[in-house]
Amino acid sequence: MKIMVSACLTGENCKYNGGNNRNEKVLRFMADNEVITVCPELMGGLPTPRVPSEIREGIVTAKDGRIVDAEFNAGAARCLAIARREQPDLIVLQSRSPSCGVKQRYDGTFTGTLVDGAGVTARLLMDNSFHVIDVEDLAMIYHGVLIRKLCSNEVGLLKDFLYEAIFIPEGVEPPARDIVEHPELRIYYDNFGQGPADYCLVAEADGRIIGVVWTRIMNDYGHVDDETPSFAISLIPEYRSCGIGTRMMKEMLSLLKRNGYRQTSLAVQKANYAVRMYRNIGFEIIDENDEEYIMVCRI
Ligand code: SF4
Repeated sequence: MKIMVSACLTGENCKYNGGNNRNEKVLRFMADNEVITVCPELMGGLPTPRVPSEIREGIVTAKDGRIVDAEFNAGAARCLAIARREQPDLIVLQSRSPSCGVKQRYDGTFTGTLVDGAGVTARLLMDNSFHVIDVEDLAMIYHGVLIRKLCSNEVGLLKDFLYEAIFIPEGVEPPARDIVEHPELRIYYDNFGQGPADYCLVAEADGRIIGVVWTRIMNDYGHVDDETPSFAISLIPEYRSCGIGTRMMKEMLSLLKRNGYRQTSLAVQKANYAVRMYRNIGFEIIDENDEEYIMVCRI
């Protein structure tokens, strides 16, 4: 993969204060991918160190009151020119920066207040249809597959992937797609993102989302108690059995651990090939009925 990244993420001391935002995940993927680094503020002619800036009413303004819109726009234009020339598959930018922030930035009051909206360079790159993500949304890149957090405008995908996750034994007719509208399945996706353990990672390959792993505390078949998130994973068939699901699950377990969860649970049909995959990453059978195992992974 060819990836463009904010230079400060690679350890370059180009931050306004002369420091950097060295990021271990970014350093790890630099080993296996072609990486182009850019620092739009330096490329726009600003020095390091420099007075910090924020976007106030659409105008980039330094903390000392100087308008630095021209420098920020010049840097963004140079990054766009590089992106057009190099055609990166992915652009990973530093979160919240007035240049590089993708989802959020500071509000221009220099009080640490965040607002939704992109920085100048991120906006320009996205407006020109480049695939841009905040570094904080990046989980990892695995053999050219991007694993990242789900965006809020992608929640609708859960319904489709839930359908894909339904195990259909050989010789059995698949259920109608509207089965996912049944109340016992709606709990997997209704109002997703609002619960404390609503976490979701997606895998992207060949320009589309090919897998989803998500957790939620819900009274589903795998529920064990109100502190344990239930775990669900779904990959479209052609991407199964090639390690992507395992990598996604491991990333989700790390995410749960970072957020203070001690275990996660699931229910799986006994005949499902995925039982072995769950065992391999640490799930253990704690209960069973005629058709299903209830499994728990302590993290
Ligand atoms: S402009 Fe972007 S690359 Fe440069 S220091 Fe700021 S966040 Fe990092």
